[in-house]
Amino acid sequence: MAGNITFTMIKPDATTAGNTGKILDKIIEAGFTIKAMKWTKLSKEEAGRFYAVHSERPFFGELVEYMTSGPIVAAILEKDNAVEDFRTLIGATDPQKAAEGTIRRMFAQSIAANAVHGSDSDENALIEGAFYFSSREHA
Ligand code: UDP
Ligand code: MG
Repeated sequence: MAGNITFTMIKPDATTAGNTGKILDKIIEAGFTIKAMKWTKLSKEEAGRFYAVHSERPFFGELVEYMTSGPIVAAILEKDNAVEDFRTLIGATDPQKAAEGTIRRMFAQSIAANAVHGSDSDENALIEGAFYFSSREHA
């Protein structure tokens, strides 16, 4: 059975452009409950560790630079079928391929600066949430 937890970050392009509130509205309107949330900034070491799975990809250096270029908002979200429903809400990695009405289609700048992160599995949702929050911080 699909889990009910996913993890998101609102990325530096979106926080810097002042789109945090609008993106949170979309997330809440879509039925997600915020279980924990933090406005913070990643160090290069932290960004590299968060995206370690991509360390061999050609875009890794650029991704670390970008993710440390401004503030991010990290959040744990709850909803039935959370991982899949959130990926549907944000749309494809490349905003030009993202469906009309998705968060990336509305707010992303490019395939790199694509406004939001969404976990890709129940297992990664728990790992990524634990990267930012201790269990006592989950409301
Ligand atoms: N990314 C990039 N260039 C690419 C593919 C991905 O800069 O060609 C960045 C982008 O910010 C993306 C992140 O790396 O969100 C992680 O990539 P992934 O394939 O996991 O995409 P996602 O799961 O975020 O849709
Ligand atoms: Mg991914």
